[in-house]
Amino acid sequence: MNRMEDKPIDLRSDTVTKPSEGMREAMSRAAVGDDVYGEDPTINRLEEMCAEIARKEAALFVPSGSMANLIAQMCYIQKGDEVIIGANSHCFRYEVGAGAAIAGSQYVVIDGSGLFTADQARQRLRPPTFHTPGTALLWIENTHNMGGGIVFPLEEIRRLKALAGEHGLPLHMDGARVFNASVATSTPVGDITRHVDSVSFCFSKGLGAPVGSALCCSRDMRTMAHRFRKMLGGGMRQAGVLAAAALYALENNFERLAEDHENASRLAQNLAGMPGIEVDLDSVQTNIIMAHLPVIGADDLVEELRQRGVLIHAITPDSIRLVTHLDVSAADVDRASSIIDQTLSELVG
Ligand SMILES: *Cc1c(COP(=O)(O)O)cnc(C)c1O
Repeated sequence: MNRMEDKPIDLRSDTVTKPSEGMREAMSRAAVGDDVYGEDPTINRLEEMCAEIARKEAALFVPSGSMANLIAQMCYIQKGDEVIIGANSHCFRYEVGAGAAIAGSQYVVIDGSGLFTADQARQRLRPPTFHTPGTALLWIENTHNMGGGIVFPLEEIRRLKALAGEHGLPLHMDGARVFNASVATSTPVGDITRHVDSVSFCFSKGLGAPVGSALCCSRDMRTMAHRFRKMLGGGMRQAGVLAAAALYALENNFERLAEDHENASRLAQNLAGMPGIEVDLDSVQTNIIMAHLPVIGADDLVEELRQRGVLIHAITPDSIRLVTHLDVSAADVDRASSIIDQTLSELVG
């Protein structure tokens, strides 16, 4: 209970960041208009910037990554069509089944860490016949959240794009954390996303904005996406205050993701030396750490750490996730490390 009086060190997710003073100032100064009429100058500027970053014709600002992903599916598929996707992808597992319930996606899942090869996807392609649904979409996630923030290799993305092209299929990237992939590989975002037909990315993860995602795509797809956004209740009015936070995030919090990656790497190395916990250091490529607990329960560790001022997530009964972000400093990592070490020593005995 040594640090209950302090602010807890929150390693549950990079979504927990709070808007900084600078970001709040940018929000308060934002020029706004009615975005449903396309008249919010700050949103228009953000969408132009996103399209440029992703090297796409256009972009649409939406309230969440889940909505961006859902709209992408609605644009690409007819109900019952097959979407080839990694088994642990956010879209399949953590969006309350929206793709199936609303877009009508039938997921054809590829098991594994989250990454898959073009050859694996090729084996699952099916043309539509009078009794089979056909493949309508290929879906990748970069970085891969449940894979532990791993980067989808660019070579494989190119192969998947070639495969999709051969079969006249679109390739979508859930790039909620594509900025982390960019920083981790020193590759501009556009050099990654130019190999996909569309990409969704989040301002509310490592970039530290309170709300918002962008769907970057062709001009025609944006026209469709704009209608679906309205259909889903995602048409916002003077949302330039939110777009200002996203612009601020892109301008100020992108390059610094490297610090989060260093902090995650440092934390992972510390964890690897502790009792009762296993970390695959090769899988720690960005800001997410997945760790296995061979002897103690994940829920027990989460609760014990919570009482000592360190917040983490249980992912399965015997695995946990820790995420670094802009509200976690190197000093926080060291403090969290010693609290976790102490706790594990007591629990493992
Ligand atoms: C966070 C996240 C999303 C979007 O989630 P929202 O909570 O809707 O913002 C989508 N994909 C991945 C991989 C994510 O981590």
